[in-house]
Amino acid sequence: MAYVKVPAHGCQQHDYPGGGVATCQHISSSCCPSFSGGEGSFAEWRCSQCCVSRPHCSTADSPPPVSPSQAAASTIDGRKNRAGFFGEGEGKCLMESRLMGSSSENREHACAREAFPRAGNSQVLGEIQSSAADELSKASHLLKESAAALDNWPDRQQELEAVRSQLRPLRHHSTFHKQETKRMRTEPLLIAPAASAAATKRPREVSPSMPAVQRLWESNSNIADNESSDIPIDDEYEDEELQTVSDESSDPGSNTPSVVGETLGSISLTDSALSKTSSCSGLTAPSLATKTGNQNEPPLRNSLFSYVPPYVRFQMPIDGAQGEEIGLPAEVKRLLKWKLSPITPLVVRRTLLRSNFRLVKTTNDWAGTWGKHMKSALFTSIKDYQKMNHFPGTFQIGRKDRLWRNLHKLMQKFGKKEFGFMPKTYVLPQDLRLLRQAWEKTCGIEKWIVKPPASARGTGIRVVHKWSQIPKKRPLVVQRYIAQPYLINGSKFDLRLYVFVSSVDPLRIYLYDDGLVRFASVKYSNDMSSLHDRYMHLTNYSINKNSSHYTQNEDADACQGHKWTVKSLWTYLAQQGVNVNELWSRLEDLVVKTIISGESSIAPLIREHVSSRYCCYELFGVDVLLDEHLNPWLLEVNISPSLHSSSPLDQAVKGPMVCNLLNMAGYHIPNKLPSSMQKDFLRNLAPDVKTNQLCIDNRLYYIGLSRDEAAKQLFFTKEAYQREDYLGQILQNLSADDVRHLVQAEDELTQAGGFIRVFPTPYTHRYHQFFEGPRYYNMLFDAWETRYNSNRSPGISLLEDLCKQKYHLNIPALSARAKSSAETESATETALESKALQVPAPSEEPQHAESVLIQSIEESQVLSNFKLSLICCFYSL
Ligand code: ADP
Repeated sequence: MAYVKVPAHGCQQHDYPGGGVATCQHISSSCCPSFSGGEGSFAEWRCSQCCVSRPHCSTADSPPPVSPSQAAASTIDGRKNRAGFFGEGEGKCLMESRLMGSSSENREHACAREAFPRAGNSQVLGEIQSSAADELSKASHLLKESAAALDNWPDRQQELEAVRSQLRPLRHHSTFHKQETKRMRTEPLLIAPAASAAATKRPREVSPSMPAVQRLWESNSNIADNESSDIPIDDEYEDEELQTVSDESSDPGSNTPSVVGETLGSISLTDSALSKTSSCSGLTAPSLATKTGNQNEPPLRNSLFSYVPPYVRFQMPIDGAQGEEIGLPAEVKRLLKWKLSPITPLVVRRTLLRSNFRLVKTTNDWAGTWGKHMKSALFTSIKDYQKMNHFPGTFQIGRKDRLWRNLHKLMQKFGKKEFGFMPKTYVLPQDLRLLRQAWEKTCGIEKWIVKPPASARGTGIRVVHKWSQIPKKRPLVVQRYIAQPYLINGSKFDLRLYVFVSSVDPLRIYLYDDGLVRFASVKYSNDMSSLHDRYMHLTNYSINKNSSHYTQNEDADACQGHKWTVKSLWTYLAQQGVNVNELWSRLEDLVVKTIISGESSIAPLIREHVSSRYCCYELFGVDVLLDEHLNPWLLEVNISPSLHSSSPLDQAVKGPMVCNLLNMAGYHIPNKLPSSMQKDFLRNLAPDVKTNQLCIDNRLYYIGLSRDEAAKQLFFTKEAYQREDYLGQILQNLSADDVRHLVQAEDELTQAGGFIRVFPTPYTHRYHQFFEGPRYYNMLFDAWETRYNSNRSPGISLLEDLCKQKYHLNIPALSARAKSSAETESATETALESKALQVPAPSEEPQHAESVLIQSIEESQVLSNFKLSLICCFYSL
């Protein structure tokens, strides 16, 4: 018998770390002196009969004598060894063969036959038996352990998921420090006018030499993918060009914040200091008063709280505002760059110009932008001081097919009564068979509306009643047609509601108290013969404006023509005896549930791709149809709602709405000024401010958690998620992270103007059941609103006391590793980091990042050990 060189594949391919003693009895020949162990050798030299490896012999020419009992024991131990559970040992053949399947198994049996009976020694047999019995008892013990572990499997998985979610912020934590360091390295402290002038007119075309991210940004309007290009742009966008658009090199002084030659009509405005959370029980009708207007106010707005830098104040564009407002110094204004996209609405551009922003076509160094939705991965490139009008993943509600799927899923779980507010929809071609069945049930007397899954402005929409009219292969949604709509003056209409989401986790939703009512231009008839008439069945402005019957309505308060404001509709309906409050509360309910239906898909994308809570917000246009019983039906959600505002009526609704929205979004000045300069400017611009930082403090929007904060969140989401448990406790020891969230929300609420907060309110806890799982921040806000909604002052005082002590600026310290790498950065950068950016020095909680990391590794090790024990158990049996 001899060792032969076998091809290095199959079972022989497996490596045997650490070497071992030969167990095969076929061998009597001596060990090759050149054999020295190691993967290659073990892989190549095997016993020709049983595939056992050549004996390991590093010193002698001949193998050490191996007794049959040793042979047997090592063969059995080999199982343990191979499973990798008990550490390295000897013997490979048996386990290896099991792993190899049946042909190897034959070899294994042959090997066993050779190894044991041929020994012919009863003592040896006894040893083998007792060893086997031992092994069996160990295996059964292992089996029990594994079964117990199996019982705990879901818990372990949950724990692992919790640890993972704690780790995510840590990743952002390190990205945060990395980005800040890099930024300080690459960006000048001040944009020197000369340098800025040198960066003249970069070509708008997408050049292959651009960095990948920039190329994507530049070409975003052409991106063709599920996430972005398929998202409809609602109604036509203005093609008006504002002459004040500049490129990056422009002198800020030349872009005076005035707009020449445009009239907005006179709009009387009053500031609203009311608490803007909805009763959400329909008890409060939307205010009919006009809202915010901040004429000639200072360019910056103070936070309610200490050590929170001021926000840029957005002001309504008005005629005749002649330089009364205090402008910002050129050094500051230079930092307020707004990157224009082809779809930035005119009303936004004009508001920006009135509010000290410069409109820039080509720059990567913008502070704000208003554009089309984009791929989730691109959100990663948004810097911590930049803010844009989208969250990643909102196509989950912005596409008609996804919207239906998400709502349908919840409807299946919670019933039609809760989620049956979207007309029954079939997504073709997948649902063709189901549609056929439904069609047959209604004997073809129902009307259906066929829509492209992701388009807008009524494009490609038809009302049908024959099966043959349905394209079977194209992607389409086919929806039950609401054939008995509520009519006013014989005409069908729908509502455009504006919904602002400032944060997804915690979820904060605001519904604007005004909107648009869009009428079909031809009186409605339920007759089948009229189905082709788009002016009768579709209410889109972009369609009906072409009708000879269409009449404009310039008066925001008048119930006339084919476009009204929502407020005028309430007035009209109230006159008809309709309970407008109840209708409004049903609309609030519809809006909250619609946004929640996308939350579980959007929140993880935000966690993955957005590095700061500062960067994103979104305005949604929600289209609703009222049926003859005034039941609201959700038609669609637009994630790029038209803000076209050429008429006084449009302007009256959208102008203040945009202004409120930008103020609520809360824009800071990018942090690119030395702190001494910030202090000087603050003294002049905002003497009452309770901080010495003019520019954004990234710590306020930091998303990482300290160990204690993570533990608190884990406790409430796992142990105390019942309302009666968390209401009493969650506000007791507010963490710095809690305070940051509450501070932001309180500042935001002061700017709500016409926006009414519909989630969270003291009454919205019932919506918590519709989330995929308990959400810590939603519980925190539920408790906060329940305690302070009716009287916010004590809550604000509580937060202010903490802010005065800079409690809200405590963010988890740098990890030791990050610290050591940070130390290798240049002294200047370090100084800049801690001084200009005020990144806190690692102190109070050193190595917390490591501990969480280690904890998570331990957790994953527990899981992998468990998996190994399962495998081992399987093979033992
Ligand atoms: P788009 O995004 O192209 O505007 P919509 O879903 O909003 O598509 O539909 C366009 C118009 O068609 C709506 O404004 C409404 O008047 C009408 N419509 C849409 N769905 C229905 C429906 N299920 N029942 C009755 N009318 C509908």
